[in-house]
Amino acid sequence: MRLPFFATVLSTTLGFYGLAHAQNQELNLYSARHYPTDEALYSGFTQATGIKINRVDADDAGILARLRAEGAASPADVILLVDASRLWRADVDGLFQPVRSKVLNDAVPAHLRSRQSDVGGFAWFGLSTRARIVVYDKDKVQKSDVDTYEKLADPSNKGKLCMRSGSHPYNLSLFGAMLEHLGEQKTQAWLQGLVANMARAPKGGDTDQIKGVASGECGIAVTNSYYLARLMRSSKPEERAIADKVGVVFPNQSSWGTHMNVAGGGVARHAKNRDNAVKFLEYLVSPAAQNHFANGNNEWPVAKGVKLDNPALQAMSGGDFKSELLPISAVGMNQAMVQQMLDRVDFK
Ligand code: FE
Repeated sequence: MRLPFFATVLSTTLGFYGLAHAQNQELNLYSARHYPTDEALYSGFTQATGIKINRVDADDAGILARLRAEGAASPADVILLVDASRLWRADVDGLFQPVRSKVLNDAVPAHLRSRQSDVGGFAWFGLSTRARIVVYDKDKVQKSDVDTYEKLADPSNKGKLCMRSGSHPYNLSLFGAMLEHLGEQKTQAWLQGLVANMARAPKGGDTDQIKGVASGECGIAVTNSYYLARLMRSSKPEERAIADKVGVVFPNQSSWGTHMNVAGGGVARHAKNRDNAVKFLEYLVSPAAQNHFANGNNEWPVAKGVKLDNPALQAMSGGDFKSELLPISAVGMNQAMVQQMLDRVDFK
Protein backbone atom coordinates (compact mmCIF):
# COMPACT_ATOMS: atom_id res chain seq x y z
CA MET A 1 0.00 0.00 0.00
CA ARG A 2 1.24 3.43 -0.92
CA LEU A 3 1.32 5.76 2.02
CA PRO A 4 -0.10 9.25 1.61
CA PHE A 5 2.63 11.89 1.26
CA PHE A 6 2.42 13.22 4.82
CA ALA A 7 2.65 9.71 6.26
CA THR A 8 5.79 9.03 4.20
CA VAL A 9 7.36 12.22 5.51
CA LEU A 10 6.34 11.31 9.03
CA SER A 11 7.73 7.79 8.85
CA THR A 12 10.97 9.04 7.27
CA THR A 13 11.29 11.65 9.98
CA LEU A 14 10.63 9.11 12.72
CA GLY A 15 13.07 6.73 11.09
CA PHE A 16 15.70 9.43 11.05
CA TYR A 17 15.20 10.27 14.69
CA GLY A 18 15.05 6.62 15.61
CA LEU A 19 18.40 6.08 13.93
CA ALA A 20 19.94 9.16 15.49
CA HIS A 21 18.63 8.02 18.84
CA ALA A 22 20.00 4.51 18.46
CA GLN A 23 23.42 5.90 17.63
CA ASN A 24 23.44 8.26 20.54
CA GLN A 25 24.76 5.74 23.03
CA GLU A 26 26.08 8.24 25.49
CA LEU A 27 25.24 10.05 28.66
CA ASN A 28 26.53 13.33 30.03
CA LEU A 29 26.95 13.08 33.76
CA TYR A 30 27.54 16.07 36.03
CA SER A 31 28.78 14.59 39.27
CA ALA A 32 29.67 16.16 42.57
CA ARG A 33 30.46 12.80 44.13
CA HIS A 34 34.06 13.23 45.22
CA TYR A 35 34.86 9.56 45.68
CA PRO A 36 37.46 7.85 43.46
CA THR A 37 35.87 4.45 44.06
CA ASP A 38 32.90 5.51 41.91
CA GLU A 39 34.89 4.73 38.74
CA ALA A 40 33.88 1.08 38.96
CA LEU A 41 30.26 2.13 39.31
CA TYR A 42 30.31 4.08 36.05
CA SER A 43 32.25 1.49 34.07
CA GLY A 44 29.79 -1.18 35.24
CA PHE A 45 26.97 0.78 33.60
CA THR A 46 28.85 1.14 30.31
CA GLN A 47 29.64 -2.57 30.30
CA ALA A 48 26.02 -3.49 30.95
CA THR A 49 24.41 -1.10 28.46
CA GLY A 50 27.02 0.03 25.94
CA ILE A 51 26.21 3.62 26.90
CA LYS A 52 29.34 5.73 27.22
CA ILE A 53 29.48 8.18 30.12
CA ASN A 54 31.02 11.62 29.62
CA ARG A 55 31.69 13.04 33.02
CA VAL A 56 31.98 16.56 34.35
CA ASP A 57 33.33 16.47 37.89
CA ALA A 58 33.17 19.52 40.11
CA ASP A 59 32.08 20.33 43.61
CA ASP A 60 28.37 20.86 44.21
CA ALA A 61 28.56 24.65 44.00
CA GLY A 62 30.56 24.41 40.76
CA ILE A 63 28.05 22.04 39.19
CA LEU A 64 25.07 24.18 40.15
CA ALA A 65 26.77 27.34 38.84
CA ARG A 66 27.64 25.62 35.57
CA LEU A 67 24.08 24.33 35.07
CA ARG A 68 22.65 27.79 35.69
CA ALA A 69 25.11 29.40 33.26
CA GLU A 70 24.44 26.81 30.53
CA GLY A 71 20.66 27.07 30.83
CA ALA A 72 18.71 25.29 28.07
CA ALA A 73 21.93 24.64 26.14
CA SER A 74 23.30 22.46 28.94
CA PRO A 75 24.48 19.05 27.74
CA ALA A 76 23.88 17.58 31.22
CA ASP A 77 21.68 14.47 31.31
CA VAL A 78 22.14 13.32 34.90
CA ILE A 79 23.10 15.42 37.93
CA LEU A 80 24.51 13.70 41.04
CA LEU A 81 24.86 15.76 44.21
CA VAL A 82 25.80 14.95 47.77
CA ASP A 83 23.64 16.27 50.56
CA ALA A 84 19.93 16.95 51.00
CA SER A 85 20.34 20.73 51.18
CA ARG A 86 22.08 20.84 47.80
CA LEU A 87 19.54 18.52 46.15
CA TRP A 88 16.75 20.71 47.47
CA ARG A 89 18.48 23.86 46.13
CA ALA A 90 18.88 22.32 42.66
CA ASP A 91 15.22 21.25 42.70
CA VAL A 92 14.00 24.73 43.65
CA ASP A 93 16.21 26.27 40.97
CA GLY A 94 14.48 24.06 38.39
CA LEU A 95 17.59 22.15 37.37
CA PHE A 96 15.86 18.74 37.35
CA GLN A 97 12.90 17.37 35.42
CA PRO A 98 10.45 15.00 37.09
CA VAL A 99 10.99 11.29 36.53
CA ARG A 100 8.31 8.63 36.78
CA SER A 101 9.93 5.26 37.23
CA LYS A 102 8.51 2.23 38.95
CA VAL A 103 12.01 0.85 39.37
CA LEU A 104 13.14 3.98 41.25
CA ASN A 105 9.92 4.30 43.25
CA ASP A 106 10.14 0.66 44.32
CA ALA A 107 13.81 0.92 45.31
CA VAL A 108 14.02 4.33 46.99
CA PRO A 109 11.91 4.81 50.16
CA ALA A 110 9.52 7.77 49.87
CA HIS A 111 11.24 9.80 52.61
CA LEU A 112 14.50 9.72 50.63
CA ARG A 113 13.08 11.33 47.48
CA SER A 114 12.21 14.90 46.49
CA ARG A 115 8.70 16.18 47.03
CA GLN A 116 6.38 14.79 44.40
CA SER A 117 6.23 17.17 41.43
CA ASP A 118 2.93 18.85 40.43
CA VAL A 119 2.84 16.75 37.27
CA GLY A 120 3.71 13.53 39.11
CA GLY A 121 7.12 11.93 39.36
CA PHE A 122 10.08 13.07 41.40
CA ALA A 123 12.85 15.58 40.72
CA TRP A 124 15.52 13.57 42.53
CA PHE A 125 16.08 10.29 44.29
CA GLY A 126 18.38 9.48 47.20
CA LEU A 127 20.82 6.80 46.06
CA SER A 128 22.84 6.19 49.20
CA THR A 129 22.77 7.37 52.80
CA ARG A 130 25.34 8.43 55.38
CA ALA A 131 24.91 8.82 59.10
CA ARG A 132 26.03 12.00 60.90
CA ILE A 133 27.65 10.43 63.93
CA VAL A 134 29.58 11.51 67.02
CA VAL A 135 33.12 10.44 67.87
CA TYR A 136 34.67 11.06 71.26
CA ASP A 137 37.84 10.77 73.31
CA LYS A 138 37.40 7.54 75.27
CA ASP A 139 39.67 8.83 78.07
CA LYS A 140 37.80 12.08 78.73
CA VAL A 141 34.22 11.50 77.64
CA GLN A 142 31.66 8.83 78.46
CA LYS A 143 29.46 7.48 75.73
CA SER A 144 26.43 8.46 77.81
CA ASP A 145 27.62 12.11 77.70
CA VAL A 146 27.13 12.25 73.93
CA ASP A 147 24.44 9.73 73.06
CA THR A 148 22.04 12.39 71.76
CA TYR A 149 22.56 15.44 69.55
CA GLU A 150 20.93 17.49 72.31
CA LYS A 151 23.69 16.56 74.76
CA LEU A 152 26.37 18.06 72.49
CA ALA A 153 25.04 21.45 73.66
CA ASP A 154 24.97 20.52 77.35
CA PRO A 155 27.12 22.79 79.57
CA SER A 156 28.87 19.65 80.93
CA ASN A 157 30.52 19.33 77.50
CA LYS A 158 31.99 22.84 77.54
CA GLY A 159 35.31 23.25 75.72
CA LYS A 160 35.14 19.80 74.12
CA LEU A 161 33.26 20.08 70.83
CA CYS A 162 34.86 20.24 67.37
CA MET A 163 32.83 20.67 64.19
CA ARG A 164 33.38 21.87 60.66
CA SER A 165 31.71 25.13 59.62
CA GLY A 166 28.07 25.42 60.59
CA SER A 167 27.26 26.57 57.05
CA HIS A 168 28.63 23.42 55.45
CA PRO A 169 25.73 21.52 53.84
CA TYR A 170 26.33 18.44 56.04
CA ASN A 171 25.71 20.60 59.09
CA LEU A 172 22.91 22.61 57.47
CA SER A 173 21.10 19.31 56.91
CA LEU A 174 21.69 18.05 60.45
CA PHE A 175 20.50 21.39 61.86
CA GLY A 176 17.56 21.41 59.43
CA ALA A 177 16.56 18.01 60.83
CA MET A 178 16.87 19.33 64.39
CA LEU A 179 14.55 22.19 63.42
CA GLU A 180 11.96 19.60 62.35
CA HIS A 181 12.29 17.76 65.66
CA LEU A 182 12.65 20.63 68.14
CA GLY A 183 11.08 23.71 66.56
CA GLU A 184 12.75 27.08 66.09
CA GLN A 185 13.26 28.26 69.67
CA LYS A 186 14.79 25.08 71.01
CA THR A 187 16.94 24.62 67.92
CA GLN A 188 18.39 28.10 68.24
CA ALA A 189 19.14 27.53 71.94
CA TRP A 190 20.77 24.22 70.97
CA LEU A 191 22.94 25.91 68.33
CA GLN A 192 23.93 28.52 70.90
CA GLY A 193 24.93 25.70 73.23
CA LEU A 194 27.09 24.11 70.51
CA VAL A 195 28.91 27.40 69.97
CA ALA A 196 29.45 27.73 73.74
CA ASN A 197 30.93 24.21 73.88
CA MET A 198 33.48 24.58 71.07
CA ALA A 199 37.04 23.45 71.76
CA ARG A 200 38.19 25.61 68.83
CA ALA A 201 36.64 27.73 66.08
CA PRO A 202 35.14 25.54 63.32
CA LYS A 203 37.70 24.60 60.68
CA GLY A 204 38.61 21.77 58.32
CA GLY A 205 36.54 18.86 57.06
CA ASP A 206 35.04 15.92 58.92
CA THR A 207 38.26 13.89 58.87
CA ASP A 208 40.05 16.80 60.57
CA GLN A 209 37.52 16.66 63.40
CA ILE A 210 38.19 12.92 63.93
CA LYS A 211 41.92 13.64 63.95
CA GLY A 212 41.30 16.41 66.49
CA VAL A 213 39.76 13.86 68.86
CA ALA A 214 42.60 11.38 68.31
CA SER A 215 45.21 14.07 69.04
CA GLY A 216 43.45 15.18 72.22
CA GLU A 217 42.58 18.68 70.99
CA CYS A 218 38.87 17.84 70.87
CA GLY A 219 36.87 15.70 73.28
CA ILE A 220 33.90 15.33 70.92
CA ALA A 221 33.43 15.69 67.17
CA VAL A 222 30.71 15.27 64.58
CA THR A 223 31.42 13.49 61.29
CA ASN A 224 29.79 11.68 58.43
CA SER A 225 30.13 7.95 58.93
CA TYR A 226 32.07 7.22 55.73
CA TYR A 227 35.01 9.40 56.79
CA LEU A 228 35.48 7.25 59.88
CA ALA A 229 34.98 4.04 57.88
CA ARG A 230 37.64 5.21 55.43
CA LEU A 231 40.14 5.61 58.28
CA MET A 232 39.16 2.21 59.72
CA ARG A 233 39.75 0.54 56.34
CA SER A 234 42.87 2.51 55.43
CA SER A 235 45.98 0.73 54.22
CA LYS A 236 48.01 3.18 56.32
CA PRO A 237 48.55 1.99 59.92
CA GLU A 238 48.67 5.59 61.21
CA GLU A 239 45.17 6.23 59.84
CA ARG A 240 43.80 3.03 61.36
CA ALA A 241 45.39 4.12 64.65
CA ILE A 242 43.38 7.37 64.52
CA ALA A 243 40.15 5.40 64.10
CA ASP A 244 41.15 3.04 66.93
CA LYS A 245 41.60 5.92 69.37
CA VAL A 246 38.06 7.30 69.13
CA GLY A 247 34.78 6.08 70.56
CA VAL A 248 31.75 6.11 68.24
CA VAL A 249 28.12 6.80 68.96
CA PHE A 250 25.07 6.73 66.74
CA PRO A 251 23.04 9.42 68.49
CA ASN A 252 19.36 9.43 69.47
CA GLN A 253 18.82 5.68 69.46
CA SER A 254 16.11 6.01 72.09
CA SER A 255 14.32 8.89 70.38
CA TRP A 256 14.08 9.75 66.67
CA GLY A 257 17.22 7.96 65.46
CA THR A 258 20.53 9.04 63.99
CA HIS A 259 20.44 11.78 61.37
CA MET A 260 20.82 10.31 57.89
CA ASN A 261 21.79 12.41 54.92
CA VAL A 262 21.61 11.37 51.27
CA ALA A 263 23.64 11.48 48.13
CA GLY A 264 21.32 11.41 45.18
CA GLY A 265 20.55 12.51 41.70
CA GLY A 266 18.03 13.24 39.03
CA VAL A 267 17.58 13.85 35.32
CA ALA A 268 18.70 17.31 34.17
CA ARG A 269 15.97 19.69 33.04
CA HIS A 270 17.28 19.95 29.47
CA ALA A 271 18.62 16.39 29.10
CA LYS A 272 19.12 15.38 25.46
CA ASN A 273 19.64 11.69 26.32
CA ARG A 274 16.69 11.34 28.64
CA ASP A 275 16.12 7.60 28.24
CA ASN A 276 19.78 6.89 28.98
CA ALA A 277 19.57 9.18 31.99
CA VAL A 278 16.64 7.28 33.50
CA LYS A 279 18.37 3.99 32.70
CA PHE A 280 21.46 5.20 34.57
CA LEU A 281 19.49 6.20 37.68
CA GLU A 282 17.74 2.84 37.60
CA TYR A 283 21.12 1.14 37.34
CA LEU A 284 22.29 3.04 40.44
CA VAL A 285 19.56 1.41 42.55
CA SER A 286 20.31 -2.09 41.23
CA PRO A 287 21.72 -4.48 43.84
CA ALA A 288 25.19 -4.42 42.23
CA ALA A 289 25.41 -0.62 42.24
CA GLN A 290 23.88 -0.33 45.71
CA ASN A 291 26.42 -2.80 46.98
CA HIS A 292 29.12 -0.68 45.43
CA PHE A 293 27.99 2.41 47.34
CA ALA A 294 28.28 0.37 50.52
CA ASN A 295 31.60 -1.26 49.83
CA GLY A 296 33.31 1.32 47.67
CA ASN A 297 32.41 4.47 49.54
CA ASN A 298 31.20 3.08 52.88
CA GLU A 299 27.65 4.41 52.50
CA TRP A 300 24.42 2.63 53.30
CA PRO A 301 22.30 1.46 50.38
CA VAL A 302 18.84 3.02 49.98
CA ALA A 303 17.35 -0.10 48.41
CA LYS A 304 15.94 -2.64 50.81
CA GLY A 305 17.26 -6.16 50.84
CA VAL A 306 20.77 -5.27 49.65
CA LYS A 307 23.23 -7.27 51.69
CA LEU A 308 25.73 -5.03 53.44
CA ASP A 309 29.21 -6.44 53.11
CA ASN A 310 31.34 -3.83 54.83
CA PRO A 311 33.14 -4.73 58.08
CA ALA A 312 33.80 -1.09 59.04
CA LEU A 313 30.12 -0.11 58.81
CA GLN A 314 29.20 -3.27 60.73
CA ALA A 315 31.75 -2.56 63.44
CA MET A 316 30.91 1.10 63.99
CA SER A 317 27.15 0.70 64.02
CA GLY A 318 26.93 -2.66 65.71
CA GLY A 319 25.19 -3.93 62.59
CA ASP A 320 21.82 -2.40 63.17
CA PHE A 321 20.77 1.03 64.37
CA LYS A 322 17.78 3.31 64.36
CA SER A 323 17.92 5.93 61.64
CA GLU A 324 15.88 9.09 61.34
CA LEU A 325 12.86 8.81 59.05
CA LEU A 326 12.14 12.49 58.36
CA PRO A 327 11.31 13.39 54.77
CA ILE A 328 14.76 14.45 53.66
CA SER A 329 13.31 17.07 51.29
CA ALA A 330 11.87 18.93 54.32
CA VAL A 331 15.34 18.91 55.88
CA GLY A 332 16.85 20.51 52.77
CA MET A 333 14.09 23.10 52.69
CA ASN A 334 15.00 24.31 56.20
CA GLN A 335 18.48 25.46 55.25
CA ALA A 336 17.67 29.15 54.71
CA MET A 337 16.11 29.42 58.16
CA VAL A 338 19.00 27.49 59.70
CA GLN A 339 21.51 29.87 58.12
CA GLN A 340 19.71 32.83 59.74
CA MET A 341 19.86 31.10 63.10
CA LEU A 342 23.58 30.37 62.67
CA ASP A 343 24.19 34.06 61.99
CA ARG A 344 22.25 35.00 65.12
CA VAL A 345 24.32 32.72 67.38
CA ASP A 346 27.56 33.51 65.51
CA PHE A 347 28.23 29.90 64.46
CA LYS A 348 30.87 30.36 61.74
FE1 FE B 1 31.83 14.15 51.98
